[in-house]
Amino acid sequence: MLKKDFLNKHLKNIDESYFTHMRHALYFSVKSFGAGFILLLHSIAPFVLITNGSSIITRLYNIMTVRNQVIRLSAVKDKNVAIVGFGLSGLLAFLNLVKHHKKHSQKLEITIFEKSRFYCKGTAYSTKNINHLLNVPAYRMGVIDQDREHFYKWLTSKGYNYSKNDFVPRQIFGVYLEDVLESALKIADKKGISYKFINKEISEIGIKSNHYVINHSAYNHCILSTGVRLKNWDKNFWKVNLTEYLNKHEVHLIGCGLTAFDAAISLRDLNFKGTIFMHSRTGKMPQMHQIPAPGAKVEPVLTLQDASLPLSQIFKKFANACKHSPNWRLHFDTLRPMTQDFWKALTVEKKKRFMRHCFRLWNVHRHRCPESQYQIINEMFKAKKLIFSKKKPNEKNVIDCTGFDYGFKSHLVDSLLKNEIVEFDELKAGIISQKPNFHIMGGLNFGNTFEITAVPDIASQAHKVARSILN
Ligand SMILES: Cc1cc2nc3c(=O)[nH]c(=O)nc-3n(C[C@H](O)[C@H](O)[C@H](O)COP(=O)(O)OP(=O)(O)OC[C@H]3O[C@@H](n4cnc5c(N)ncnc54)[C@H](O)[C@@H]3O)c2cc1C
Repeated sequence: MLKKDFLNKHLKNIDESYFTHMRHALYFSVKSFGAGFILLLHSIAPFVLITNGSSIITRLYNIMTVRNQVIRLSAVKDKNVAIVGFGLSGLLAFLNLVKHHKKHSQKLEITIFEKSRFYCKGTAYSTKNINHLLNVPAYRMGVIDQDREHFYKWLTSKGYNYSKNDFVPRQIFGVYLEDVLESALKIADKKGISYKFINKEISEIGIKSNHYVINHSAYNHCILSTGVRLKNWDKNFWKVNLTEYLNKHEVHLIGCGLTAFDAAISLRDLNFKGTIFMHSRTGKMPQMHQIPAPGAKVEPVLTLQDASLPLSQIFKKFANACKHSPNWRLHFDTLRPMTQDFWKALTVEKKKRFMRHCFRLWNVHRHRCPESQYQIINEMFKAKKLIFSKKKPNEKNVIDCTGFDYGFKSHLVDSLLKNEIVEFDELKAGIISQKPNFHIMGGLNFGNTFEITAVPDIASQAHKVARSILN
């Protein structure tokens, strides 16, 4: 009786049936015998089977470590959180976790995996060019969900001379993010939260008894914040070395959005003497920001019920209001708090039609260009340093500025799909978590949520994710 209880307790602890456990134990026994035999041969003839025995033992050790961690985590209420990807989303998840963790509650351990050297800045805020500006005014760029003006207050406290409505260089925002990280680490130290940074690209996340297995360790919560990959990576503006283009007569930018504007400005600032061609079939360029007069306000044109109207009617209603408004930008800004809910209320068919017919138009009005940047671009056009073309560029001296590759496939996403941790959304433009403790942050939610790439959206998502983990 005592023996039976003991056996059941062990199986319960590791969440395995008798036969699953037997299969695992047999696997270990066969592999150990195999490794032993290989090592015996190797000891006689050291020039054969050089690494085979040791790799079997390392593998068995890794599996055993994960099993033990899962057993330990299942028995206690500790939170062992992995954050995969440490750009803005990863940083804000970390900040909210340490901020909202109650000092004397369960133990909190956080492990952060980041593949690049640029912790917390990601592509957007690692730029070194001072003329690459934020496209949101300073007073709305705070990363604290309950304090939107946090960034503006930080600017003032550091002696920067910007007003609330200014579009600040993204490089300065990067410094702000470093400061946010420093404060988060201080809070973690004060509360005794343990954290670890691992500089590594994660290409696989497994699952064992509702725990996530990453880099041979088990976690009971995982936050995926790897961001959205940019298109055509090898030729992408954020990847290429611009100095290699400086002695060319022509450079061809694909796309004419905000990234193409950044690329043209970078080439100008590097004193590029040739001609820059901006290629786009539609030629739809970002609209310019125009800060509304103080107190200017409009009522929302659309309500959630309007999502049931045909797409053409929704479009007309919104476009008409914009046309007859002294500043159409206000309508876009007013719609913002409900954009995600409105998107979710649309049918799949409407979402697909929106992506085909309206997305580009939406983007150029929604993601606007600061006036000073717009003027630089206009001057370059006037001086014929920059030429617009509807033709496809040939292969030479091309830089891709077309933006995000939504719904991309990668080894990491493949492993998440294979292990049934996530599914593609209905548009195949992002992924959706299938597990309660697996949280997907930022642009990876695009198909399901639509607007989830800008700082205010990510700040509010990070707050919610941290709350759900800590509760
Ligand atoms: C050029 C540009 C300008 C922008 N300007 C603004 C703006 O002015 N205002 C605004 O509100 N928003 C802006 N945005 C949007 C938004 O702020 C960013 O997209 C945001 O930084 C997204 O953060 P993220 O952490 O989700 O993704 P990312 O910034 O892409 O960070 C993801 C991180 O994960 C790491 N990673 C990826 N894969 C792995 C892996 N397998 N293993 C380990 N690590 C991995 C990457 O190295 C990276 O550090 C801009 C975006 C871009 C691209």
